[in-house]
Amino acid sequence: MVSEQKIADVSFESLLRIFTIPEGPDSTLTQIEEGLSKNLNQFLREHIVAEEKPLHEIEKDFSSAVIPEQPAFVSDHTEYLLDTLVSHSVHTSSPSFIGHMTSALPYFLMPLSKIMIALNQNLVKIETSKAFTPLERQVLGMLHKLIYGKTETFYNQWMHSANHSLGAFCSGGTIANITALWVARNNALKAQGQFLGVGKEGLFRAMKHYGYEGLAVLVSERGHYSLKKAADVLGIGQQGLVAVKTDSHNRICPDDLRAKFAQLKQDNIKPFAVIGVAGTTETGNVDPLREIAQICQQESCHFHVDAAWGGATLMSAKYRSLLDGIELADSVTIDAHKQLYIPMGAGMVLFKNPDAMKSIEHHAQYILRKGSKDLGSHTLEGSRSGMAMLVYAAMHIISRPGYELLINQSIEKARYFADLIKQQDDFELVSEPELCLLTYRYVPKYVRDALVCASHEQTTELHKLLNELTKVIQKKQRETGLSFVSRTQLNPIQWSIHDTIVFRVVLANPLTTKDVLSSVLEEQREIAKTAPNLMARLEQLSLDITQG
Ligand SMILES: *Cc1c(COP(=O)(O)O)cnc(C)c1O
Repeated sequence: MVSEQKIADVSFESLLRIFTIPEGPDSTLTQIEEGLSKNLNQFLREHIVAEEKPLHEIEKDFSSAVIPEQPAFVSDHTEYLLDTLVSHSVHTSSPSFIGHMTSALPYFLMPLSKIMIALNQNLVKIETSKAFTPLERQVLGMLHKLIYGKTETFYNQWMHSANHSLGAFCSGGTIANITALWVARNNALKAQGQFLGVGKEGLFRAMKHYGYEGLAVLVSERGHYSLKKAADVLGIGQQGLVAVKTDSHNRICPDDLRAKFAQLKQDNIKPFAVIGVAGTTETGNVDPLREIAQICQQESCHFHVDAAWGGATLMSAKYRSLLDGIELADSVTIDAHKQLYIPMGAGMVLFKNPDAMKSIEHHAQYILRKGSKDLGSHTLEGSRSGMAMLVYAAMHIISRPGYELLINQSIEKARYFADLIKQQDDFELVSEPELCLLTYRYVPKYVRDALVCASHEQTTELHKLLNELTKVIQKKQRETGLSFVSRTQLNPIQWSIHDTIVFRVVLANPLTTKDVLSSVLEEQREIAKTAPNLMARLEQLSLDITQG
């Protein structure tokens, strides 16, 4: 509530006060801080969507474009934020929030993140980061070793070398993928004779110099949408991103990859990178990395692995073989803000060769001088926070075996859930979990029976209605706010001709129990009953088919 008499004033003195460290345990700010922690804990404990309020109502609270002329007290504004913002936020760390890759966080990160905010280091240059720079280089080294397992001598030599970098820390998988392809593009179109390289002279002259008709990047049709953005900004166009066919498990078909290479050669188009996905966003499948690596070697082409989501599996001695061949990649993307349980804004790209990033090196006079250890000379982003500190802390506090337990339980829980779905006679597992992601849908028993003997037309009709039903259930479940699964559209081989809408589940939260999984299915079954029209049409059509 706004205090009646006291009105905050605009004066330079009061502005100076907001930059001063709060004094004593009972200072107003300390109290606000304590109250806030309590409130957040409460929120995190109780809600998925705290209060049911339609989005257009929420928008009303955020509708003014006027920058306030009147300052507010921190305490008042905090109240306001709790009412308008926090109470209508999504509780991504709830055990029944199993729809997205955004994960629950270990609680120790809340107090530790204060170090990052309070010190406000800028990792772009060592003058504003000092100890944070070696720390970030070490984090990159740790992830590099997790993937490539080089010797201690290797890391002693390269980890802190001013003129090299083992990778780049960035805001997420999108920037990591763009960085990897930027490096690959510039290495494929490097300086030669009179030509100064694509970085200096641009694409048009690079094409003329090398005599290519165009450039391409090859990726499975299940590739992440960030790659389209990458193709766009790197000047090869979205059409330069060539989709390679996938098999019934959503994995790249090596034969089609070879065929695509042959076709591009005929058209005089230069493919400068192939991307293997280790954990596709929609189905969680892993491409045959070793085989792709062999093809790339034959074709002298950069091999990038997009392991933004699945890369953390390497922490598990038991399951890291699921990513077999990743160590053959020239570069790898890993998001720490997915399965490494770090807050949003922590992506990384690692390069096997410490020289690889030279092709995108940038220098400036007042910072990023040659020979300095400034990380900014090898990053797309400029100013960056000390986020690496949280990855560093989590790796020490949780440790590799701790991460292994987390990864293992996720994978095993997904397998359990898949079995549970298969045991129901009114649910259909659509994609088996390879890591901890699976898709399925609700299909009443009579529809399943009907699908067995339906004609092509009848099948199409049933699938249309089932798609509607899946949508309705997913939406209602989200709105009810007890649990959350996401939905996506696939073309599963068993229903090859049909676009199939499915529920998508990502199991990463260690607090998600088997009971939670059972009740998610039970709730979906109940919600189906609240769509009587749709259910009646499905039942009628199914009866016509089985009896007709
Ligand atoms: C999440 C994801 C990305 C994009 O990462 P952001 O951190 O959202 O930018 C890219 N590729 C895959 C496979 C992903 O799962």
